Amino acid sequence: MREANCIFCRIANGEVPSKTLHEDDNFRVILDLGPATRGHALILPKEHYADLYDLPEELAGEAMKLAKKMVTKMTDRLGCEGFNLIQNNGDMAGQTVFHFHMHMIPRYQADGQKIGWKPGEPTQDELEVIKNTIVG
Ligand code: AMP
Ligand code: ZN
Repeated sequence: MREANCIFCRIANGEVPSKTLHEDDNFRVILDLGPATRGHALILPKEHYADLYDLPEELAGEAMKLAKKMVTKMTDRLGCEGFNLIQNNGDMAGQTVFHFHMHMIPRYQADGQKIGWKPGEPTQDELEVIKNTIVG
């Protein structure tokens, strides 16, 4: 299914032009218009899936395989020194476009970007409770 008023549906299916790095039957890879660093790219499925919850398992696997291929090629071509893969799900997690996408962000020495979090300091007991909540 594609959604007529979803910008990433329109880009992924070629109705709206983009700087395309790769296209196949299931995905288009484009340059992000508001890049964190030089070469910041997005993997977009051609079908509309809002987020990872919605994405079929098989396509999730294909997206990660494609990420590996693209990261390898982009590292070679751009001369970056590392990569962040980021994939936001839901408003609370910073998702702003509600069509699944995976960010591939090349990292360079002194690129001025900081992607991270402030580490917590849970006790072993607290970790045990969380573990049991998830797997119990
Ligand atoms: P997120 O916050 O994970 O939903 O990321 C949305 C990303 O889409 C941001 O990095 C935007 O810069 C990018 N973006 C939004 N609209 C476009 C567009 N028309 N073409 C390319 N990238 C876009
Ligand atoms: Zn869409």
